[in-house]
Amino acid sequence: MSDSSSAISKHIKPCAICSEPCSHHGARGRNVVCNNCSAQATDSNGRPIEFLESFTRDGQTVWLEGLEAFYKSPDPEAGKRCDEASESRSCFIGGYECHLFEGFAGWQGLIYEPKEGAV
Ligand SMILES: [Zn+2]
Repeated sequence: MSDSSSAISKHIKPCAICSEPCSHHGARGRNVVCNNCSAQATDSNGRPIEFLESFTRDGQTVWLEGLEAFYKSPDPEAGKRCDEASESRSCFIGGYECHLFEGFAGWQGLIYEPKEGAV
């Protein structure tokens, strides 16, 4: 009984930003940013953004284009693609530069990697 619960809890680690426990499953040991912190992501200008699966429709065919960054409410251009973050695949949360990371089993999320030599 304790075996099954530890199999789950071994993926529960502190969020890289706020230290709240969250699932790191699929993240290949990276420092995962929890959903609450991810919801506060901004671009380098401090505008709120979120990463969403984007697709284009060509007749009956839907082409998945992977995750892209979009401005979100309360930004006046909510829903518009944020070119900067879509291309850099990075964002800022509480002054930390975070990156979109693709783990295994299709896991995608934001991670924070302290820079070499940073305190
Ligand atoms: Zn967090």
